[in-house]
Amino acid sequence: HQKSDIKMSKKGVNVFVRFRPDNATEQKLGVQCVDYHPDQKKVSVSCDGISHGFNFRRIFPPESSQEQIFLSCALPLVESILEGYNCAILAYGQTGAGKTYSLLGPGYDHPERVGKCDQELRGVAPRLLQSIFHQIYSTVSGEAVYKVYTSYIQIYNEKIFDLLNPAKEKLKVYQDTDKGLWITDATKVPSKNVKEVNQILELGTKYRVTAATNSNAESSRSHALLILTITKHLINTGTYRASQVYMVDLCGSERISKTGVVEERLKEAQNINKSLLSLGNVINALAEKRKHIPYRDSKMTRLLQNSFGGNSLTSLLLCCSSNSTNALETISTLRFGDRAN
Ligand code: ADP
Ligand code: MG
Repeated sequence: HQKSDIKMSKKGVNVFVRFRPDNATEQKLGVQCVDYHPDQKKVSVSCDGISHGFNFRRIFPPESSQEQIFLSCALPLVESILEGYNCAILAYGQTGAGKTYSLLGPGYDHPERVGKCDQELRGVAPRLLQSIFHQIYSTVSGEAVYKVYTSYIQIYNEKIFDLLNPAKEKLKVYQDTDKGLWITDATKVPSKNVKEVNQILELGTKYRVTAATNSNAESSRSHALLILTITKHLINTGTYRASQVYMVDLCGSERISKTGVVEERLKEAQNINKSLLSLGNVINALAEKRKHIPYRDSKMTRLLQNSFGGNSLTSLLLCCSSNSTNALETISTLRFGDRAN
């Protein structure tokens, strides 16, 4: 039986930080630039002789396991999800910082490797799914009937694409008048276990890779959203509840060089900045308990509106390199998350 050691807050966004181990190039070119505090809540990053300190809900040093990340950032969400609340887990950071690794697992960028990694290397999403399915199947039958549906979409240049149905035109975001939810007309595939969801991820990743190649863009410039819709039918009262879980692999947060960008790239760069910027503004507005939360500023924040605030739980996992060669990007990533504090 798995247990989490984190008490999450329903007010605002819960921010976690994970530093990944150095790769071969970093080992050669740089040194470690991060100081960890034993309380696992404080961290400082040195850059050009200046130390920058930050506080977050939990800091994970490079030797942390995939299981530890899951137990802290995602397991606390399961109960809320099954009670009918919306939840979200977002991975933020520069390209190569470990977003996909943490959220899905190693190799998930390649369709042929989806769902094939070692058990202990599985990321947050497969573990969360397994936990949800486990809870669902251990619910006393006759009490409640759960159904799980999976969607996989991509936001690129402020346009939403259905990764499970490439033939479909751009998806629209609209408000469901009954439930008051912002939703899309994305394909929803009924799913019974993690294996079926992995098959869906494999299919979507195939399309994601092809679409990126065709448009001459990198998938690091788009946001990938794995969305679970969970319906709960209470037999006794005949009532239905629907909740959604958003697992978001955000686009790379690195600054895009402004020199020599052609029209299309420039537009793309502005749109990328727009969605990450508006996400930052929303988490900041939530933290400051402002009356007006600027959800309408981008497609991403509009969709996430359901799972931010109210009774929902939201985890933001900042993914960082701990090497001096990336110190500036790491500080910029931590500053982004700091706006939720
Ligand atoms: P991103 O999605 O942020 O661009 P990736 O998740 O693809 O970054 O990670 C970049 C590379 O680093 C991949 O080869 C990945 O397997 C590896 N990696 C990332 N995080 C870790 C980690 N915590 N431990 C070991 N390898 C990691
Ligand atoms: Mg990635």
